[in-house]
Amino acid sequence: MESYKILVCGDIGGNFQQLYKRVATVNKSNGPFHLLLCVGAFFEPFSASHDSNQSEQNQNDQDQDGEQNKISFPKELQSYKDDKEVIPIPTYFIAYTPTDYKYIEKFSNENGEICKNLTYLGKSGIKDLMGLNVAYLSGKVDYPIKEESNDSMTIIKTDIEKLINDSKDKKIDIFLSNQWARGVLNNVQSGIPTFLKTPYKIGMDSIKEVVQSTNPAYHFSKNSFYFQRPPYLNHSNETKVTRFLSLAPVYNEKKEKYLFAMNYQPAKEVTTNDATLNPFERRQNNNDNSEQHTQKKQRNTEETTTNFFFGNNVNTEQDNQQENKNQRKRQHGDNNNQQNRHHERHQKKFQMHQQKPKPQQQNCWFCLSSPDVDSHLVVTIANDCYLAFPKGGVVDHHLLIVFIEHKANYISLDQSEKDDINKMINILREFFDKRGQDIVVFERNSFLKGAIAHGHLQVIPIPKSLSSKVKSKFIEHSTENNMEFKELPENDNALNDKYFLLILPNGEKLYSTLPQKSDYQFGRKVMVDLLGTPEKLNWKDCMVSKEEEMNQTASFRDEFQPFYDEKNPSNDDDD
Ligand SMILES: [Zn+2]
Repeated sequence: MESYKILVCGDIGGNFQQLYKRVATVNKSNGPFHLLLCVGAFFEPFSASHDSNQSEQNQNDQDQDGEQNKISFPKELQSYKDDKEVIPIPTYFIAYTPTDYKYIEKFSNENGEICKNLTYLGKSGIKDLMGLNVAYLSGKVDYPIKEESNDSMTIIKTDIEKLINDSKDKKIDIFLSNQWARGVLNNVQSGIPTFLKTPYKIGMDSIKEVVQSTNPAYHFSKNSFYFQRPPYLNHSNETKVTRFLSLAPVYNEKKEKYLFAMNYQPAKEVTTNDATLNPFERRQNNNDNSEQHTQKKQRNTEETTTNFFFGNNVNTEQDNQQENKNQRKRQHGDNNNQQNRHHERHQKKFQMHQQKPKPQQQNCWFCLSSPDVDSHLVVTIANDCYLAFPKGGVVDHHLLIVFIEHKANYISLDQSEKDDINKMINILREFFDKRGQDIVVFERNSFLKGAIAHGHLQVIPIPKSLSSKVKSKFIEHSTENNMEFKELPENDNALNDKYFLLILPNGEKLYSTLPQKSDYQFGRKVMVDLLGTPEKLNWKDCMVSKEEEMNQTASFRDEFQPFYDEKNPSNDDDD
């Protein structure tokens, strides 16, 4: 029976001598190996302190050629290039950083060859390596995935589509990517590293899309630690299960495993005894609850569903429902959206598996995994909350901090969730401060008919000249609304079912109990009064086209994300 002895390696980061020394040892004891595959940063280490800042600067540099000339051929590979030594094993790699790409541009030939036995696989595609189909994705994908990018190492939508398309009718033996598939740790009972704060959220949806469509026998990725998942059932009759492994960097202080050796026998009968269910889908016994069934159910409950993206800003529930329908019509009419919806249905399944489904969550406009979420409005996703634009904001950068879990209000969150939200508020406050603005944050908590709302906080940036007037303006409006603002004690036990929480520009927290009948628009009303923009009271008058919404979100993300990353380094997904 045909068998292939293969080595797979995590971030090399320029440590070629260390790597090939190790390879030589392994080759002697267990070899010979036929192939070395590499994921992660290849030429230089990827770390915030080391080269990512530099490479980002380089990217923005107008004098690209000048920058490129500064890159010299890696010393540790020089003797191979000069044919003084031979790389002991055919080595194929994907790239990770823009710096990697600069080396490739400068030093590889048209076949991606850097020197004998060392070849760059490419951005996205499938290559036949000694009779094995190896699928690969270089670079990184953002969430949501970009349609286009000037950055050579940003994976865009067409890269994913090309890969999936190329894999049609092919058995994929190996898939290489720098990021994990989102949700891959679902259905794993033990062995998940305890230092991962949010293991079930690790990974990217686009990578999930690839593994769900290509069903590789092996999926190799990387992280700052070594991890091997038990095999999971996939959709292919040939590969049957996918084995996911994530490798540590070659240089790592904890001596985590960076080199994986296997004897791959493609024709060997695959046993599924030790396989878990597919981590990206609901349990099999729920399969009768098919897509169609779910859609039908959605239509039936449509009338009673609240569109929460609109919900904060609307006048009446009737308006709400009408807009809800219009929105659906638009979505169904738009072919481009079909793909999104397909993609999002995957997300939904993922979540339904993750959490016990509650009826009102299925149509939630705020659950990230819901098919109804307006993903083009999502700016960035933190651990326990995400940042998004509302529809028809009251100012240009009116934002929402939305809980990731479907929980009704701030008080129902656990401490780590609250901490994550307060962290986001603080980062936003600093961010807008640099732009000469302060932020007003508020939350209106009130149960909607029977359904548990998906909680979120409104964030409205204002000119600093108005900051001192915020408190008095809210107090002024409170009397006519039968509300009374009080200082919130350090513990937030004072908050009960119906409250309005207000966070002033200086961070001071006030709250008021809401009367039996309260104005949905209270917060917005006060804000338009404060800002002197009464024409912005009705959110509908502030609506912009979907295209503008997308641009608005993307351009804000471009400014905010680097600032956020700087304030919030280390993410489970990265080194
Ligand atoms: Zn929700």
